Amino acid sequence: MAAPLIDSFGRVHRDLRISVTDRCNFRCTYCMPAEGMAWLPRSEVLTFEEIYRVARIMVERFGLESIRLTGGEPTVRAHLPRLVEMLATLGVDLALTTNGATLAILAPELAAAGLRRINVSCDSLRPDRFAEITKRDSLHKVLEGIDAALAAGLNPVKLNVVAMRGVNEDELLDFAAFGRDKGVTVRYIEFMPLDAQQAWTNDQVLTYDEIRRTISDAYPIEPLERGSAPAERFRYLDGKGEIGIIASVTQSFCESCDRVRLTSEGSFRTCLFATEEQALRPLLRAGGTDDEIAQVIARAVSEKWAGHRINEVHFIRPSKSMSQIGG
Ligand code: SAM
Ligand code: SF4
Repeated sequence: MAAPLIDSFGRVHRDLRISVTDRCNFRCTYCMPAEGMAWLPRSEVLTFEEIYRVARIMVERFGLESIRLTGGEPTVRAHLPRLVEMLATLGVDLALTTNGATLAILAPELAAAGLRRINVSCDSLRPDRFAEITKRDSLHKVLEGIDAALAAGLNPVKLNVVAMRGVNEDELLDFAAFGRDKGVTVRYIEFMPLDAQQAWTNDQVLTYDEIRRTISDAYPIEPLERGSAPAERFRYLDGKGEIGIIASVTQSFCESCDRVRLTSEGSFRTCLFATEEQALRPLLRAGGTDDEIAQVIARAVSEKWAGHRINEVHFIRPSKSMSQIGG
């Protein structure tokens, strides 16, 4: 019988993000340095069997309900569909977040392996600007990837857009029009202080209020019920789908957070912004039992903090970037 993974604030944790690699074929300015990123040696990255074991323990012991694979860029990990196939046997809601560059090739295989839903990240629909942000001239591949994901029957297909002042604020409505046209839910994400360059400043954050106002002035929307999801959801009143706004900076949703994370090197984190993590890899590789692994996880969650406090003076930036933690 599964016992819920509950912290001292009463939050029940049902959602696991698994970073399958710290590597990436893009160099998004808000996430990775253009050069000089030191990748983990292969031997320090969890194998598929190790990832599966942690996920299985969490499903069996704690009633985990959903898993999202991320990175780094998950699709650069060789044989990713095999991992999807293994995790699909756990019967959880299985999703993937990707930059979409190789989806045109991989989408059918991922869907056949048991993937249900997918989020594709794309911060500009203008080829030059896209190349400036990602340091890769790959917008056409990402757009083909979105079409391939839709054609493969992945549902829903969502588009993650990091909204940054002075970078893509003039494209908020272009993205809305794109989403309405394609039947894709656009999720606008506030820019968070997790960039490898440590260049984040508060004034670069295009806020929830600004995003909501811009969209609703052009396309009337109404809020939908939210639940524990980080995105505040809205539906277009004319019935052409919905959008999400993730206000991680201006309106933190920490009080309803139900998420924990496993990094590519096998560390368990209770928050994106956590300053501490529990290394599971030594335990996994030294014959640790399921009980022992479950105990480390349960203890870490029981000690989870209230929230990140980005807007307060006490905020401490994690030493790792988004790509290293797993976004
Ligand atoms: N490579 C995949 C991708 O780009 O979708 C998965 C990993 S990426 C770290 C996951 C998500 O985090 C992406 O949607 C990306 O845009 C977002 N992200 C990265 N750095 C961010 C930051 N500093 N603030 C807000 N979102 C960020
Ligand atoms: Fe790579 Fe995703 Fe980070 Fe961009 S956001 S550098 S695609 S991990």
